[in-house]
Amino acid sequence: MSVSGNLARLKKALPPGITLVAVTKTHGTDKIMEAYEAGQRDFGENRVQELLPKAQALPKDIRWHLIGHLQSNKVKYIAPFIHMIHSVDSSGLLSEISRQAIKCERTIPFLIQVRIAKEESKYGASLKEVQHLTEQWKNGQFPGTLLSGCMGMASLTDNEMEIRKEFTGLKEVFTQLNASAPDMKILSMGMSSDWPLAVECGSNMIRVGSSIFGQR
Ligand SMILES: *Cc1c(COP(=O)(O)O)cnc(C)c1O
Repeated sequence: MSVSGNLARLKKALPPGITLVAVTKTHGTDKIMEAYEAGQRDFGENRVQELLPKAQALPKDIRWHLIGHLQSNKVKYIAPFIHMIHSVDSSGLLSEISRQAIKCERTIPFLIQVRIAKEESKYGASLKEVQHLTEQWKNGQFPGTLLSGCMGMASLTDNEMEIRKEFTGLKEVFTQLNASAPDMKILSMGMSSDWPLAVECGSNMIRVGSSIFGQR
């Protein structure tokens, strides 16, 4: 199947009101352009080193999402143009995003990445850290940033019950935070293998790579 064919099939299956972020890591600009020409504008990359040359080469109306772990020393490279950062999990990182946003005279929307998977290796904030970050943000400690929601990745497992449990847990966190921070509207969860389940559990932004662009 072609990129545009895959994209069309996915969009047809996606309920209205859900944003699709097309994840392009490891894929070349030719494939990205095929999706762009089919109307796709939201694209996600998980590494700054890979995002930069692509952002440089590709049309400027693309909305780039940074979805992978972000080191503080890389924030300055993406601050001028990044549409949204999905992977904020510490106040140190958010302080640096704030600093760079002010330098660029812009507001950078971000999501708090919440640790929902059972595996220890996954990045993300614990529930306590999520609450702490949210309180600090509401107290105005991170000017130039906009708390827009949260993101999570479920465990890599075939156990649907487990994935559902993790997604439902994240939806609960989102609902709680949303009650006190009205700009928090985005719940980014679901990838190629689990997005239908994520959408069932309340996701309104999915990040899909391989089922559009093929295996990496
Ligand atoms: C790679 C990646 C995705 C997309 O994964 P696919 O299985 O290719 O759909 C989604 N989110 C993050 C954070 C990723 O790194």
